[in-house]
Amino acid sequence: MAAAEFDIPEIKDYIEVPKLREGVMAHAKTFLAPKPVQDFMGYPHELADNWKESALEKMGDLLGKYRSLKVFLDACVHCGACTDKCHYYLGTSDPKNMPVARQDLMRQVYRRYFTTAGKLFPKLVGAKDLTKEVLDDWYNYYHQCSECRRCSVFCPYGIDTAEITMAGREILNHVGMGQKYSNEILGKVQKIGNNLGLPGPALLDTLEGLEEDIEADTGVAVKLPIDVKGAEVLLVTPSADFFSEPHVESLIGYAKVFHAAGISWTLSTHASEAGNFGLFNGNYETMRKVAMRIRDAALELGVKRIVVGECGHAWRVAYSFWNTLTGIGYGADDPFSIELQKQLDPNYPQPQHICELTNDLIQSGRIKVDPSLNDDLIVTYHDSCNVARASRMGTEPGGQFTIPRELIKSVVNNFHNMADDTIYESTFCCGGGGGLLTDDLMEVRVKGALPRVTALNNVVKEHKVNFMATICAICKAQFTKVLPKYGFDMSMVGGVHQLVSKAIKLD
Ligand code: SF4
Ligand code: SF4
Repeated sequence: MAAAEFDIPEIKDYIEVPKLREGVMAHAKTFLAPKPVQDFMGYPHELADNWKESALEKMGDLLGKYRSLKVFLDACVHCGACTDKCHYYLGTSDPKNMPVARQDLMRQVYRRYFTTAGKLFPKLVGAKDLTKEVLDDWYNYYHQCSECRRCSVFCPYGIDTAEITMAGREILNHVGMGQKYSNEILGKVQKIGNNLGLPGPALLDTLEGLEEDIEADTGVAVKLPIDVKGAEVLLVTPSADFFSEPHVESLIGYAKVFHAAGISWTLSTHASEAGNFGLFNGNYETMRKVAMRIRDAALELGVKRIVVGECGHAWRVAYSFWNTLTGIGYGADDPFSIELQKQLDPNYPQPQHICELTNDLIQSGRIKVDPSLNDDLIVTYHDSCNVARASRMGTEPGGQFTIPRELIKSVVNNFHNMADDTIYESTFCCGGGGGLLTDDLMEVRVKGALPRVTALNNVVKEHKVNFMATICAICKAQFTKVLPKYGFDMSMVGGVHQLVSKAIKLD
């Protein structure tokens, strides 16, 4: 087991609700974004003298814009149903990581400045002044929330802590307390085209190298085309797929699927990133700017279909926001959106998830697979939060749960679900989502992974599971780092198309 500067939680047979340990994670601060990063994003990089007025003005702005935020801040009755539903509370035992407590950090300020009772009788209604101490708590604990929405599933009012976290981060950015990790990535994707800052020539080299590897491995000349005008499909995938392990195995899988089905496809240098960290910051304008690259690439290349690779939050943005942000799908009515809607083939979902595309091809017999080629694996599936609780897939309700499982079961012979209360809409976050996948939050990430690791450990013991498939680039990166801390091999996590890649028959 790798050494760590903090205690690794003990895996028990069941997910235990811990005893409260006040302030135990108050030290876990993610790095602040420096001046050049904040400058590019159009935010200040330090607190100005009037930071408090500025924060309250922004809060008022968000309350006016997003009715849901006001409803969530007003509606909580402190019933306690959400308290033990957050993986960060379960893993750290810090009471401020309980969803209701995380909400209360903002709710107490909201009551103080935006409600009559809070203005007149603050103590009676739990209202609190916005002080630097409160702002620091916001920074710490809104960066110990992966915006996974699990708590909202168990709240009788459907209060979504993720939206409160997003609003908190937007206000923090506005006063000069942006997070280095997320804002640096947002800079790279806008300047270079992907989160990793991988320039076009390096991307071309990487793809050529992969083509050689696939041909050496299979004897078949499977291509990874890029910037091909007139291709049928534009594949938009997380940039981690281009060079990280195990992500790249799924990219190889997508390429084999298109090859076997005879579908012409292309990647794009301009839109070489499906991820959109604008979501994590709660800033729709940033999210729109990042998403617009996809529309530009689709128009430029003249494609008929847009398919999204294995990335959880990217699929949420694509499925739930692209239509109104960019006109991909239906909703926007500016001239470019109308042009794009005419260009895209109405016989396919726009956008479509790669799992749905591949599953349809297998079920209809257009591509052939041999599941026995995965007989060395006993597989389970980790539902990624943003796919599970913020999107759908296919035409049937719950398709985001059934399609990936149907696909896995068609390419492997040994599959076991983890415990019911840890999958589907109750899935536990990997611990690294929502802008937390940074080494300066390693303690939060490792401890936050405890509930998922507990469920995994149980299927390892009961069924000898040795592979956990997932369709999220962040989950893959998080688990390869975190699983070894709990004594598991990092190679036991991988993509669904990694399994497809092994089982597919190529001509
Ligand atoms: S991390 Fe998930 S469960 Fe925890 S408070 Fe945030 S949205 Fe809720
Ligand atoms: S479950 Fe909902 S109403 Fe109950 S404490 Fe949590 S947020 Fe408040």
